[in-house]
Amino acid sequence: MTEPLFERVALIGIGLIGSSLARAIKTQGIAREVVAADRNADYSGIGLEGDLGLDHPLSPDVAATVAGADLVVLCTPVGSFGTLAAEIAPHLKPGAIVSDVGSVKELVLREVAPRLPPGVHLVPAHPIAGTEHSGPKAGFATLFKGRWCILTPPEGTDPAAVAKVRALWEGVGSMVEVMEAAHHDRVLAITSHLPHLIAYTIVDTAVGLENSTQSEVIKFSASGFRDFTRIAASDPVMWRDIFLNNREAVLDILQRFTEDLTRLQRAIRRGEGDTLQELFTRTRRIRREVVDANQA
Ligand code: NAP
Repeated sequence: MTEPLFERVALIGIGLIGSSLARAIKTQGIAREVVAADRNADYSGIGLEGDLGLDHPLSPDVAATVAGADLVVLCTPVGSFGTLAAEIAPHLKPGAIVSDVGSVKELVLREVAPRLPPGVHLVPAHPIAGTEHSGPKAGFATLFKGRWCILTPPEGTDPAAVAKVRALWEGVGSMVEVMEAAHHDRVLAITSHLPHLIAYTIVDTAVGLENSTQSEVIKFSASGFRDFTRIAASDPVMWRDIFLNNREAVLDILQRFTEDLTRLQRAIRRGEGDTLQELFTRTRRIRREVVDANQA
């Protein structure tokens, strides 16, 4: 058997992503020991350790959990990263790697990097994988298989630390790409953040309809609405934090989207069928490309 990549991995937050990572690391033998901390008291004492492959009981104590770890991964909503970084900093092992799975990446450079002691390496990561469910019961070991994971190491990061985090994600089945944090946040604003905002809005618009129409919205939801309700069921705290922390990129994309929507509105009002058909033909091609890239 080959040596594990890490001696001790500490995960902070054991929700959908943290619990999936724990399971995947254990299944793939990537670390000798996996430990985790979570503030949610509902998750202690319910025997999660066996299910997740943790080597110690799940702890509420973040500082004790990171002590001695050679890799620490923040798996909580991004709004908590700054406070958590300050809390763990004095307890990190010299030479440890700190990473995260947050959906926004410039924030990690802003909130986490300045709080880490010298000699600790920061390699932020974002697995482009997930579901609309939350919590440790929703996680599973194969969540990251065949999915992209984006690394956004700040300039000058030790290449050996980046290589280890890359090997971790490749080890759990992901394909890895490295890019600048600001670029990541722009790309994700259009591919993930805006679609979620639209889904939240459509579902809320439906809720605002008068009662009689509302019941029919549910009854006939298979006509398209259903897919939006799945996205709009995503975790409220996680998504609040994403919009608050990727404000500029989201507002810029939202402005472009609003202009495009207004253009379509005008085409419908003026009866410009060609405009509509051309656009729908272009977008159908994009769907085919997504399917061909195995990202459907
Ligand atoms: P989740 O299922 O809601 O789990 C988050 C866990 O972290 C919860 O148990 C939560 O406890 C705990 N927590 C929150 N603040 C904490 C703190 N200060 N100290 C210790 N534990 C804390 O969330 P998730 O879906 O796994 O998302 C986690 C991260 O992954 C987020 O940064 C998100 O942006 C990123 N991400 C998510 C997805 C996705 O599709 N879900 C995909 C890629 C990346 P409470 O229940 O008490 O709040």
